[in-house]
Amino acid sequence: MLEKIDHIGIAVKNADASIAIFNALLNQIPIKEERVESENVRTVFYKSGDSKIELLEALSDESAIAKFIEKRGEGVHHIAFAVDDIYAEITRLKNEGFVFTRDEPFVGADNKLVIFIHPKSSNSVLIELCQEIK
Ligand code: ZN
Repeated sequence: MLEKIDHIGIAVKNADASIAIFNALLNQIPIKEERVESENVRTVFYKSGDSKIELLEALSDESAIAKFIEKRGEGVHHIAFAVDDIYAEITRLKNEGFVFTRDEPFVGADNKLVIFIHPKSSNSVLIELCQEIK
């Protein structure tokens, strides 16, 4: 089951510049910051009620975030839904015709097992499924 929106990912050119903006907007400082070397990104998380905002800065030109910004500019990059059983959801959604960007979930930021649905099968919105690693 897609339980709730876990976070909204926002692609930014410079996380330090964006931290200043989001600190002022949300009237708080980030709850955590993490580099995901496998994805070549630096992530910065804010809390907003039950959900989070994830700022994503590319650490190299090879990063998907760098390519996204080059094509579409900064802005909303993905919506992440929390799931209780990521493998069951992948099977269910594949049966519904959704296409994933990878075959298997992988360890992403924030201690989560994650996988992405290709935007071509979800109205041009990149969707992340994430399950807490216990
Ligand atoms: Zn995310």
